[in-house]
Amino acid sequence: MSKIERMRKQKESCDFCGNEVVKKRMTIDFHYKGKLIIIENVPGKVCVECKDRYYDAHTWEELERIARSRTNVKREIKVSVKEYELERI
Ligand SMILES: [Zn+2]
Repeated sequence: MSKIERMRKQKESCDFCGNEVVKKRMTIDFHYKGKLIIIENVPGKVCVECKDRYYDAHTWEELERIARSRTNVKREIKVSVKEYELERI
């Protein structure tokens, strides 16, 4: 889990910059057992300043349940994976 995807309950201010967090529906790239699943319309909170995201424990459990489930796939997309190339000497 990255720093932007930590579980928080009743969050009112950002851990990193201390600014206000507001309720928002978000799209999440969820990694589950080596698979990437994109989940839309996820309720959470986002910092108005640094855009850090917060989800509560219940939402996180629900994301895992949705990721595990093989049904209700809205659509499938192609994803390109690239590598950051080091500057050539
Ligand atoms: Zn912040």
